[in-house]
Amino acid sequence: MSTNQVLTDVMNSQMEERLEGLTQKMFGKSLKNCNNSEVYNAVLQMTKDMIDKVDEITGDKKVYYISAEFLIGKLLSNNLINLGIYDRLAEVLDKNGFCLADIEDVEPEPSLGNGGLGRLAACFLDSIASLGLPGDGIGLNYHFGLFKQVFEDKIQCAEKNDWIEDNSWLRKTDVSFDVCFGDKKVKSRLYDIDVVGYQNGVNKLHLFDIETLDESLVKKGIDFDKEDIEKNLTLFLYPDDSDEAGNLLRIYQQYFMVSNGAQLILKDLKERHVDLKEMYKHAVIQINDTHPTMVIPELIRILTEEKAMSMDEAINIVTKTCAYTNHTILAEALEKWPLKYLEKVVPQLVPIIKELDKRVRAKYKDPKVQIIDEDDRVHMAHIDIHYGISVNGVAALHTEILKESELKHFYDIYPEKFNNKTNGITFRRWLMSCNPELADFITTLIGDSWKKNADKLEELLDYVDDEVAIAGIDDIKKDKKAQLAAYIKDKEGVDIDENSIFDIQIKRLHEYKRQQMNALYIIHKYLEIKAGKKPQRPLTFIFGAKAAPAYIIAQDIIHLLLCLQEIVANDKDVAPYMKVVMVENYNVSYAERLIPACDISEQISLASKEASGTGNMKFMLNGAVTLGTMDGANVEIHDLVGDENIYTFGKDSDTVIKHYEKADYVSKDYYEKSKVIKEAVDFIISKQCLAVGHKENLERLYKELINKDWFMTLLDLEEYIEVKDKAFAEYEDRTAWGKKMLVNIAKAGFFSSDRTIAQYNEDIWHLS
Ligand SMILES: *Cc1c(COP(=O)(O)O)cnc(C)c1O
Repeated sequence: MSTNQVLTDVMNSQMEERLEGLTQKMFGKSLKNCNNSEVYNAVLQMTKDMIDKVDEITGDKKVYYISAEFLIGKLLSNNLINLGIYDRLAEVLDKNGFCLADIEDVEPEPSLGNGGLGRLAACFLDSIASLGLPGDGIGLNYHFGLFKQVFEDKIQCAEKNDWIEDNSWLRKTDVSFDVCFGDKKVKSRLYDIDVVGYQNGVNKLHLFDIETLDESLVKKGIDFDKEDIEKNLTLFLYPDDSDEAGNLLRIYQQYFMVSNGAQLILKDLKERHVDLKEMYKHAVIQINDTHPTMVIPELIRILTEEKAMSMDEAINIVTKTCAYTNHTILAEALEKWPLKYLEKVVPQLVPIIKELDKRVRAKYKDPKVQIIDEDDRVHMAHIDIHYGISVNGVAALHTEILKESELKHFYDIYPEKFNNKTNGITFRRWLMSCNPELADFITTLIGDSWKKNADKLEELLDYVDDEVAIAGIDDIKKDKKAQLAAYIKDKEGVDIDENSIFDIQIKRLHEYKRQQMNALYIIHKYLEIKAGKKPQRPLTFIFGAKAAPAYIIAQDIIHLLLCLQEIVANDKDVAPYMKVVMVENYNVSYAERLIPACDISEQISLASKEASGTGNMKFMLNGAVTLGTMDGANVEIHDLVGDENIYTFGKDSDTVIKHYEKADYVSKDYYEKSKVIKEAVDFIISKQCLAVGHKENLERLYKELINKDWFMTLLDLEEYIEVKDKAFAEYEDRTAWGKKMLVNIAKAGFFSSDRTIAQYNEDIWHLS
């Protein structure tokens, strides 16, 4: 028995007395007399006290996962599960008149991430600890994080997301570093959040902050003085970068993160008496996208200037220590900072970056692989690729596209650096915590070894012809749909029909993800119903998405969806057959309610554009059937489940890439050729739509679709309509659909982030 198991047993047996003691001490009253918020705070304290006693994960080599985002979600239920005290706490609370779910609701969701990339970082931390590997996260403690979304007059408005409370998972440490910028020096403060492995030890998420921050700088919405760095540095994740001050602030943030990160890592190594010449044998830095790239020149600067190493040696050592993960092939997302911005914010790095560029130029004549281009912009990804040990994509197709087109010039130079690590998700959160009903049912069928070894889910395939098992899974889906319906009624004030098909698209709003194509389907269906062609069963289309505040067309798409929601709801002929609901402020907690209730998972990005997706994996694991393009990890889902158990459509990535190369996609041709497409697109500026919406937004979106449509919505629309209708029709064969659900769950094991992390360790990190 491990020490942690002993701890768990002790906690489970003494829990009631401990909680009672804590409520007495903290609030001067008995547990029974506390309100939910007081109970939450006592449970939080009890859990933190227990975590203090769990062993820290140690080892001779450690990974530092450095990332601008950690979309960790609420932590209580996950920590309880991983500590093995969830069930007992539920019992104790129940006995005292509380429901654990209500207590969980009290916790504010940390706002430290934006979308898939940040959620991936969070799943990875969970898996690293759960596999017992030494590995910490390094990031920033944004006070207002990503904005909170509210809808006003069918328009997205951004508000500050104030999530930090006096008593929270954040632990203030006594670690503080000086960080020098070109024009100022600031002091940092480190806060830590414990990362508890599943039946394992504890790692840390290190979040740096600045003590001179001034929250009152934010006046209305999310506006603030972008130039007052000492007061604004950690206010927001991704502050608006549509002007120079915004760009500079992002560079200040990035350097603040990597300077602190580098100092922390060197401090760690010093405490472990590591000779810095052997740094790479004891530390590996995984760079999550390009935001932390400056850690490379920063470490080289420290080693040469402060540790008296030669440039050759410093470059060699840092290169062996750093590894880079690429998350996107969208050009606008590959950061290129003007050299003059870096000269202002981090002049000390500029000579290093120039030296790194000089060395590249001396070896390779191809201007495409240089770090500083002819416009004096610094290509951050190029630093990572030349001066790191590994470059990985995040799904098989994505990595192939990197090798064959986007980063071909680099692949030709460094074929050995390129490797694929298909993303994954932690099953603790995305099944055990968000869908305990399904998790328990799976366990009654195949035992619980799947919790430690996700591949065991395949044993469910033995039940593919077992009517009782299939009905059991279907019943749970019905329960989760009813739970979601109640929640949406409460939160959004919208009634949804539990017996309808739940078709869900939840993810950041981006044209490449093509929420607009789903909207055009909805218009098409609406017009069909108006014309008397009714669906066999009512349809519920659910959306959740935040749009970057400066991304105008994305705002327009949200506006269209909210207009459609209203039009459909107010139309007596149509309302009984379909419903549209766009939920407000989609986040991890909302995802945990939506995903278990989903019948059809919308993964409809333009092929080649979605690097992997992880939402697709969460849905599959919870028994939703994917309706998707052959993009990102959808390709791997298709390979695993087979044609029978997924609905795919649309042009493949080769075809799409050729269209871009030849620049021969003309959306207007598609619009004019097809009556169905024309009707749907025209509806956007119809009298009916303009009566509920804003002319400016709707006209702009309409024009964008027929004149540009950069992400080729109209290319795939007809096929999308056809395949989606087919999926809805086949839903009616409940036995056949139940089998699809079961096969999806059974085959989801591959997408456990435990598998992904085991591969990172095996191929890149080599932790010990
Ligand atoms: C998983 C997740 C994402 C990523 O979704 P994709 O569909 O892969 O883009 C984004 N936001 C939240 C809250 C998530 O949980």
